[in-house]
Amino acid sequence: MRKILVVEDEDAIREVLALNLRLAGYEVTEAASAEQALAIFSPAAGFDVAILDIMLPGMNGFSLCETIRRDSTEIGIIMLSAKAMEQDKIRGLSIGADDYMTKPFSISELLARVEAIARRVSHQTEAVNSAEPEGRMVSGAFVLDQKSRVLYKNGETIDLTQVEFQIMELFFSNPGVALVREKILEGVWGENYYGDVKIVDVNIRRLRMKIEDEPSTPKHILTVWGYGYRWNA
Ligand code: CA
Repeated sequence: MRKILVVEDEDAIREVLALNLRLAGYEVTEAASAEQALAIFSPAAGFDVAILDIMLPGMNGFSLCETIRRDSTEIGIIMLSAKAMEQDKIRGLSIGADDYMTKPFSISELLARVEAIARRVSHQTEAVNSAEPEGRMVSGAFVLDQKSRVLYKNGETIDLTQVEFQIMELFFSNPGVALVREKILEGVWGENYYGDVKIVDVNIRRLRMKIEDEPSTPKHILTVWGYGYRWNA
């Protein structure tokens, strides 16, 4: 059963979330604060997805996200914000969240996003557990190891989140091809994703910080103005 961690201090919202996730077949652990969540969370606890409210008493959701992401690149993270703050969204995504939702949101939309992220995470677990020979995609100085979900650049390990990894898979499968942002969004987040293409830009920015020598003048992930991005090994 897929395991979800729900961190929200407002009892009514947390309970509605937990109830609906349980009805959808998830095993749900609730926490009313970041501190409580960190007492429960460990990479070994096996959570597939964490849903983190930003406004929490004590440590806020951003710090919690960073702390969890430092321990696990595998877990899917969805941030919840009370306001439609574009800055919150950008910040949440830039520190390692996979998705972002603004309150009030529909439960069906949240479930769709949780499902999309949980599916990615479990694909990854299956890939790690399978006895098949490991898949490796090579592009110039880069090697994408599909078994360990790690990227190597000149033999050096670069840890990627699930989303970042899938974007790299898309690039490696389409070297030199200009990929329109909507195609990247669809390829990574799925056809039924409701979010906007800015999430692609934020993840690209994060990837550049990780893989480019000079992120402000990228040599590998090139911008195709008004269109999208192109991979150049
Ligand atoms: Ca709150």
